[in-house]
Amino acid sequence: MTVYADNAATTKVCRAAIDAMLPCLDEIYANPSSIHPEGQRAKAVLDGARRKTADVIRCKPSEIYFTSSGSESDNQALLSAARIGKSQGKTHIISTAFEHHAVLEALKKLEKDGFEVTLLGVHEDGIIRASELADAIRDDTCLVSVMYANNEIGTIQPIKEIGEICRKRGVLFHTDAVQAVGHVDIDVGRDNIDLMSFSSHKFHGPKGAAVLYARKGVQLTRLLLGGGQERGYRAGTENVPAIAGMAAALTEQAKNIEANAEKVSALRSFLTDELLKIPGTRLNGSGESRLPGNVNVCFENVSGESLLVLLCEKGICASAGSACMSGSLEPSHVLLSIGRSEKEAKGALRLTLSEENTMEEAKYIAECVRDAVVRLRAQ
Ligand SMILES: *Cc1c(COP(=O)(O)O)cnc(C)c1O
Repeated sequence: MTVYADNAATTKVCRAAIDAMLPCLDEIYANPSSIHPEGQRAKAVLDGARRKTADVIRCKPSEIYFTSSGSESDNQALLSAARIGKSQGKTHIISTAFEHHAVLEALKKLEKDGFEVTLLGVHEDGIIRASELADAIRDDTCLVSVMYANNEIGTIQPIKEIGEICRKRGVLFHTDAVQAVGHVDIDVGRDNIDLMSFSSHKFHGPKGAAVLYARKGVQLTRLLLGGGQERGYRAGTENVPAIAGMAAALTEQAKNIEANAEKVSALRSFLTDELLKIPGTRLNGSGESRLPGNVNVCFENVSGESLLVLLCEKGICASAGSACMSGSLEPSHVLLSIGRSEKEAKGALRLTLSEENTMEEAKYIAECVRDAVVRLRAQ
């Protein structure tokens, strides 16, 4: 038996996405920039995908830019906002200590280029405080970048409040919503979001397609130079099959968002309760303001790496932290940011569920984890 519980790392491609992709791998192969009828067929697929994507996050199709990955979208968002800031003499950026590395590394580059970066601390519940953000904004602040939901501990941030503060203070607001889009309802207008990143493979679409939403009037900077694709802001022939698959997956997820959240959060609550019965176990991050499928716990006196090996033997796919950092012996920067010690952080287990998981699987995971923890502690 294989039980897949690593949906924060990536998700299984859904049927709707595959059905949308197949014709684009077969008959609709022309270049969407070609003016002949075959090219126009491919362009129609792109236009349709842009419209569907815009509908889900409630923006205009002209505010959607297709990219290759969430990482690319994050990079382009940050570098664009920084460029705009610099042109106005503003070089201060605010973000948080527990962002994804696609944001943190871009911030490091900007620091080298002369920007000043303030990283807000995260509270023990895995949530930043909007009031602390408001206090950190200065006259020279050009950008606030706060993730919608954290990829390790699943905590959802007060995005609407943050958006309101930023809009009032005239500061651009970017959110890395890679973990949130397709899983929670998002409205970029309601939340005053100027820039938002999200990625197909985190909501049952294929890999290799992602989106950068940029509100009308927010001028993007090019990361890739070349042709005039994406209205001149992202060169390179579009990945039509993946983009078609992404839009189909997103539409499907958006349609089922409430039913899925209900189903998945019931599994999550069950699993969390079962794991917390194991002595020396702590939940990481708020139990309430949290993605439906995220369970993240620390076990005292257990090595998370050894635990994962035992779970693999039982066919359970889980992770200790983010997939990007697996293999590194460093404790998770996210767990350290919420006040866990290095030792505690090394005993972490992340289980991320989707609507494909069942109650039987949740019970099986709970049993296997308990047995493995007992075994490791007895060694
Ligand atoms: C996965 C992830 C990314 C990176 O997205 P890719 O499409 O894999 O490059 C960025 N931010 C968060 C929060 C993520 O979970």
